[in-house]
Amino acid sequence: MEAHLKALENSKFACFWLDQEARPEPLRPLSGDQRCELLIVGGGFTGMWAALQAKESNPELDLILIEAIEIGDGGSGRSGPASAWRGPTATTAEGASG
Ligand SMILES: Cc1cc2nc3c(=O)[nH]c(=O)nc-3n(C[C@H](O)[C@H](O)[C@H](O)COP(=O)(O)OP(=O)(O)OC[C@H]3O[C@@H](n4cnc5c(N)ncnc54)[C@H](O)[C@@H]3O)c2cc1C
Repeated sequence: MEAHLKALENSKFACFWLDQEARPEPLRPLSGDQRCELLIVGGGFTGMWAALQAKESNPELDLILIEAIEIGDGGSGRSGPASAWRGPTATTAEGASG
């Protein structure tokens, strides 16, 4: 194994700012039929700001925001290398270090 990969073998692959104890636990996946007044798809900057602004303008609004992976998973929560590389199973280590 290359020395630089060996140095990382006990590392946890995570974004520091997403891997915080204060981060709320994910809600259980939606199931069955759901109804709402406003459905927002995607928990990046666009979806979260849309949700925030909609709630600010109408706190009673029945709003659901759905996210396929986890909030901040896309470009909004990841740096370039973290966006491009999701760990050794997603691509080769050579690709990640190139
Ligand atoms: C490498 C990189 C560097 C960048 N650097 C900068 C910078 O320096 N300055 C700057 O201003 N901008 C930068 N950007 C751009 C900025 O990050 C994006 O424009 C912004 O984060 C896009 O936000 P978004 O909410 O539209 O998309 P995303 O952050 O991609 O969020 C979309 C979310 O929707 C979810 N989703 C997608 N499809 C579905 C579905 N069908 N159902 C449920 N959920 C779904 C995804 O999982 C994801 O979490 C950069 C982007 C990248 C990739």
